[in-house]
Order: sequence, then structure tokens, then C-alpha cells
Amino acid sequence: MYDYRMLIDGARVEGEAGHFDIINPASGVAFAQCGAGSIAQLDQAVEAAQRAFGEWRLSSHAQRSACLQRIADDLEHEADALARLIVAEQGKPLALAMSEVMGGVAWTRYAAGQEIPVELVEENPSQRVELHRKPLGVVASITPWNWPFMIAIWHIMPALRAGNCVVSKPSSLTPLSTLALVEIIARHVPRGVINVITGERGFGSAISSHPGIHKIVFTGSTATGQRVMQAAAGNLKRLTLELGGNDAAIVLPGTAVQEVVEDIFQAAFLNMGQTCAALKRLYVHESQVEAFGEALASIARRQVIGDGLQPEVTFGPVQNLEQLQLVAELVDDARRQGGRVLCGGERLAQPGYFYPPTIVTGVHDGQRLVDEEQFGPVLPVIAYRDVEEVLQRANHSDMGLGGSVWGSDPDQAQALASRLESGVAWVNCHAQIQPNTPFGGCKLSGFGVEFGLEGLLEFTTQQLLYVRKPKG
Ligand code: NAD
Repeated sequence: MYDYRMLIDGARVEGEAGHFDIINPASGVAFAQCGAGSIAQLDQAVEAAQRAFGEWRLSSHAQRSACLQRIADDLEHEADALARLIVAEQGKPLALAMSEVMGGVAWTRYAAGQEIPVELVEENPSQRVELHRKPLGVVASITPWNWPFMIAIWHIMPALRAGNCVVSKPSSLTPLSTLALVEIIARHVPRGVINVITGERGFGSAISSHPGIHKIVFTGSTATGQRVMQAAAGNLKRLTLELGGNDAAIVLPGTAVQEVVEDIFQAAFLNMGQTCAALKRLYVHESQVEAFGEALASIARRQVIGDGLQPEVTFGPVQNLEQLQLVAELVDDARRQGGRVLCGGERLAQPGYFYPPTIVTGVHDGQRLVDEEQFGPVLPVIAYRDVEEVLQRANHSDMGLGGSVWGSDPDQAQALASRLESGVAWVNCHAQIQPNTPFGGCKLSGFGVEFGLEGLLEFTTQQLLYVRKPKG
């Protein structure tokens, strides 16, 4: 099927630093090996991208657009194999993996169709001033393990569309679907335009400080994003930092439980809760905490937990043991402090990293389960008394990725949502994203946006063209 070696300057290469195992989270057992590259190989990848940039930057918009359309055709054609690979390395159920692939296709086609405008700033008898956008050079993409395939697409496609060359570095936990993606991209672009390196450690900081890289688009945790930013200062790399979140959702008093509870459950447990903009803290009026907790728990109990390749499974494993242990630790901490675990709350006694969807009530701000990003299958349901007070509590976080307000009065909900301190505010939904709407966080959730024209322009540098007209 796909070749799991790195791609440097159009050639598949073995890792000079050996191999590492890729574990299937549904079994806890290694099912593939991946090459561990060396820093010298990173240098080769950057040099190849620099060389390829000379030509690629001159390719026309129509040429690049056509390349992306052909890539999307192949992705669509190979969707089933790609989705099965995602299940094997990441754990999500097959239907969700299929939507990850098809989402990737949609994002690729959107990037293909995007225009990079030349803006006429001023035109008068004596001068014309235009704002142009040019590619940056070599872009490095560093991705996490939760939506490995789709996030790689979010990084790579606009970078290529804008005329940059790319060095991709997937998470060492989920590199295979990115290696497959790069193999497909490489069929349609000149050699060196796309490169991928894999390894377990050391690459992140070598990329961040590499003088031949002009921009890093990074998706991952806030702590790593801070390290990237420090190391990137040497050559003033451009950065897009899509970091962690601890999204609050506020349900307004009197909201009909059955009207919103299914959507709230899906928004919280999307991808087993391992989604940056998942709903992570649910604030419910004290009169309805019990009703919401029970309604959520009853949906949680209906989930069929198991290997995502089994057709009946709706809920897969946590991707890795470390994340599972963090989730278990946060639930145990809440339990010790009087939290009520309505369902789940214990790792399943079977092979693989299975932790059932867990609902906890009786928890408060200041406790770890509420204040920290759980990034896994547990949702705290927190009581509030007063709407103004709960808004302050929702905003009392270092994170600012997304947030939502739910209620039957859309005007009231919208008025409150607009006061959330977050890059995105949703009303009666959460974690909705689409290719044409800029997405990104504030505060420690990062800066810069992806998607839409704003996202595309982050892969460009501006040049102001100032033309003095002949006198007379
Ligand atoms: P992580 O920060 O541990 O790793 C992300 C990537 O950074 C991996 O490829 C890793 O190998 C690499 N890396 C490790 N050390 C590095 C260093 N010193 N310099 C540069 N790169 C380095 O994150 P993760 O555990 O893979 O992902 C989970 C986190 O990602 C969560 O906090 C989640 O909220 C966040 N996330 C955010 C978004 C978003 O759009 N805001 C999307 C998905 C995930």
C-alpha cells in the first residue's frame, strides 16, 4: 500500500536514526514501524524545499490550483484506504475517519479555488499603489495526533496554493496517514515542493530554530507552542500557533434539555473528546444540573465502545496511554473532591486504551477537571446561579479558543456569546468549522488563523508596489 519512508527531494529515504513503533490504540500493540530521521536529513529536506521554491514560486495560480484539484481527486479515490489507516494509528471509528478524509478533500478543493487578490490601494493621475502578496519560502508544518490527516491538509494545502514549499513533521504517534498524504501530493508537484520527515524527538526544536525555514504552522499544545515561539526568534519566522483550548459552554436557564443535549454530547465527545475546539466545560443553571447530567449520561451509556474498524462501534479508544492516564487522573481528582461520576470513570479492563465517555457533576471552578484541558472522554457539568457571574467564570481562563451559549432565545444567547473571550463564539452549536471561515484562538490558545482568505494570506508576505506616473 503506502510507503512509510520519509520523502526528501522527491526520493523515499530510510531514517538515518533507526525506526520507531506505531501503536494501534485499540490493541495497545505496535502494527507498523516508521523511520527516525536525523538532523542532517532535516537539513536536506529544507535545502530541497529551498531549491524547489525557485521554480514553484513562479508557477501560475492556475497551475497550482490544478495540482490541488488533482491531489483532491486522488484523496477521494483512495478515501477508504486512508480512512482505515487513520483508524489504525489514531483510533477513531471508521465513519469519523472517513469524514476526516472527506473533510480533507473539501479543504483541498477549497484551497484550490481560492484567489490571492491584488488590492488597488490608490489610483490617481500621479500614482498607483497596489498591494501584492508573495509566497514566503519554506514553510514547516508541525501537527498533533488527534486529527493527523486533516490538520496536515489544513497546513499544507494553503501553503502550496500560495506558492510555498513545505517540510511536514507529523506527530510521532500518528505519522502514517501524513506519509500517505505526502506520497499522494508528491505525485502532482515538482520534486522538493513537498517533503516529510519523521522522528520521535529532537526535530521540533531543530525545525523551530532552523535558519532555512521562513514560517512554521504549528498545531499542538500551548507548552510546545511557547517553545516553538522562543526558538523561532533567530530568523523572525512567521508563526501560526493553533494551541490548546478549554472551551466553555453556557446553557441559559430554562433551555429544554432534549432540544440541545444530543448536540452538546457530540460537541464534547467528538473524536473521544480529543478535539481542540471540543466543548470542555459545561455550565448549566443549578436548577437543571441533574437533568442535564442524567440526559448526557444516558447518551454516554448508549455508546458502543471498541475498535473503530468494527462497524457497530461509535466510540473508540484514547489515542495514547499518556492521555488516558491524564483523563483518569483528572476524574480521580474530581471524585476525591466530592464530584459525582454519573457514568464511566474507569479505564476498561481490556487491551487497548479504552476509557468510556464520562460525565461528572458536583465539580467547581478551581478543580483540575474544570480548569485544565482534559482533551479526552470526560465532561464536567458545573452549576451556576447567575448569568453575569457565569460569563465571568467562563472567561476566567488563560485559554481562548472557542466558546458557546445555548438557549431558546437566540438574541439573548448571541448577546452573551459576543462577550466570550474566545477566537470563535458559537450559538446553539459548538466546534463548527468550515473552509471559508477563519478559525483561530486568542490568549494562550495561540494567534493567527487558518481557513478563509485570512488563513491563506498567512502563507504570504506583502509587497506594496508604488508606481509614480509620468508627469504631464
Ligand atoms: P504536542 O504539543 O505534544 O505535539 C504537537 C507536535 O509538536 C507534535 O508533532 C510533536 O512531535 C511536536 N513537538 C514536540 N516538541 C516540540 C518542540 N520542542 N518544538 C516543536 N515541535 C515539537 O501536542 P499533542 O499532544 O500532539 O496535541 C494535543 C494538543 O494539541 C492539545 O492541547 C490540543 O488542544 C492541541 N490542538 C489544538 C488545535 C487548534 O487548532 N487550536 C487543534 C488540534 C490540537
